[in-house]
Amino acid sequence: MLSVCKQSFSQSLQRSAVRCLGSVVPEVRVEDFGPKNEPVLNYLKGSPERAELEKALNETANKTEDVPIVIGDKEFKTSDVRYQVMPHNHKKQIAKFYYADAKLIKQAIDVARETQQKWDKTTVAERFRIWDKAADLMAGKYRAKLNAATMLGQAKTVIQAEIDSAAELIDFFRLNAYFLKEATKYQPISENPKVTKNSMRYRGIDGFVAAVSPFNFTAIGGNLAYTPALMGNAVLWKPSDTALLSNWVNFKICLEAGVPPGVVNFVPSDGPVFGDTITASPHLAGINFTGSVPTFTRLWKQVGNNIGIYKNFPRLIGECGGKNYHFVHPSADPTTVINGTIRSAFEFCGQKCSACSRMYVPESLWPKIKEGLLSKRSELKIGDPTDYGSFTSAVIDDKAFKRITGYIDHAKKSSNLEIIGGGKYDDSTGYFIEPTIVQTKDPLDKIMTEEIFGPVLTIYVYPDSKVKDTLGLVGNSTQFALTGAVFAQDEAFLKSAIDELKMTAGNFYVNDKSTGSVVGQQPFGGARMSGTNDKAGGPHYALRWGNPQAIKETFVPLTEVDYPYMKQ
Ligand code: NAD
Repeated sequence: MLSVCKQSFSQSLQRSAVRCLGSVVPEVRVEDFGPKNEPVLNYLKGSPERAELEKALNETANKTEDVPIVIGDKEFKTSDVRYQVMPHNHKKQIAKFYYADAKLIKQAIDVARETQQKWDKTTVAERFRIWDKAADLMAGKYRAKLNAATMLGQAKTVIQAEIDSAAELIDFFRLNAYFLKEATKYQPISENPKVTKNSMRYRGIDGFVAAVSPFNFTAIGGNLAYTPALMGNAVLWKPSDTALLSNWVNFKICLEAGVPPGVVNFVPSDGPVFGDTITASPHLAGINFTGSVPTFTRLWKQVGNNIGIYKNFPRLIGECGGKNYHFVHPSADPTTVINGTIRSAFEFCGQKCSACSRMYVPESLWPKIKEGLLSKRSELKIGDPTDYGSFTSAVIDDKAFKRITGYIDHAKKSSNLEIIGGGKYDDSTGYFIEPTIVQTKDPLDKIMTEEIFGPVLTIYVYPDSKVKDTLGLVGNSTQFALTGAVFAQDEAFLKSAIDELKMTAGNFYVNDKSTGSVVGQQPFGGARMSGTNDKAGGPHYALRWGNPQAIKETFVPLTEVDYPYMKQ
């Protein structure tokens, strides 16, 4: 690590006189971490992975996959037929699927409850074997198929699909199994094992867990459904309509790997019908949710209203939205700021929950940063995600298109706001919106405080003398605290910023962009209205779905009631 730093230090000195700082974060325990992250493949011309991907893209693009509801070992199709279309070519349907009604959702609850009792008896070793097999299938035989479904169904470019539906998904399966393995190593103190033995074992929760997943990461769907399952729970998985095909491929891989039918039930349905039905069941053991604040708030309220009916207190995990920031100090390296911000704000059309959406730039650096951002922005190719030259593609659907362009129209009308780059949109073929850069005079305009979840970046330029006041705005102007980044070469400033911004982000970056967390490297999640911060990709997450039981065994008879001092 040190030698890498030294090398980049001398190189960067030659290039831009940027100092290589030591860490400003207090030291935490570091040790060998166990399994390695799945490597991200390059897809260079002529590579075997590119050839396989091309084949899978062709196959996926040329049919409309018929996706059933799966409950236990049975498939169902209802008369409520839906289609998933390609966001970049919305006339093309890539999946036909069916909404489960309340009756089928209740049937899935019954099947899950029954299955949970049997599944919970499966040894931890057997579960590891299945999870490992699933990860291997995802990494090998089905990698191209997962990526093709994600590229075409969610309009991700090849790199965005590879880091999601390949690397991150595989990492979730391997690392969560590893974290469970590590957790089972802890056993309570037994002072004299010949007299008493204390132990702890992990059970699932009796009942069912509802996994409700968003469109934007294929890997999140897999994690939400399969991590509770790994811990001995049975799950109803409600995938997002706009990530249906990739989630279906994931589901089928897990069946092939040996996850028994009924452990995870695949239940596409209307969101509110699903939410209303699961929260009305006394057997709801938990909700594993990722999505927007309003949806999670509604679910939480329903659980609160029904709290008297449940057998267990339902566990609620919700990872929600963000209004992620880049804060630039006058000592920052402009090139790093420019490149990191373009990637963070515009990759996958700003539809990562961690995407940078607001930026604070000092007046002294603004001319250089503005010029760099505008010039890089104008070079970005926006198009079909299967075109290797595309930097990004269309936004997910008509609802997103309407919401995001609403903010652009607001910027066009407001005297406080100026669109300095982009601002055009067109949904005639696909839901295309130009990467858009807005400059604001008002740091509290709604464009700086509300989640947009699209390719719109707003910048507030502050006087250099007002660094401290502007830093205060970061935490006070939104309800969110998901991700954030500071860019500076001034070590004293960084030390103070780390303190002052402590509560503004669950994932905090120093001289790096606000996106790109890796399972096992940057466990992910935010606080405040960004979520319950249970840190997917970290060691605590799986444990939230465990239901540990402490057992004390005594090997000698109890011969008396009185204590010795009572006899003195
Ligand atoms: P969404 O809230 O619209 O939908 C999420 C899921 O909830 C979907 O499957 C949807 O069908 C379902 N749903 C909708 N209403 C429901 C109801 N009443 N009951 C039960 N389920 C219901 O969110 P989205 O548009 O799919 O995803 C985007 C949001 O997710 C953004 O706000 C983004 O920031 C957030 N997100 C957060 C993280 C994180 O880790 N913090 C990660 C990814 C996405």
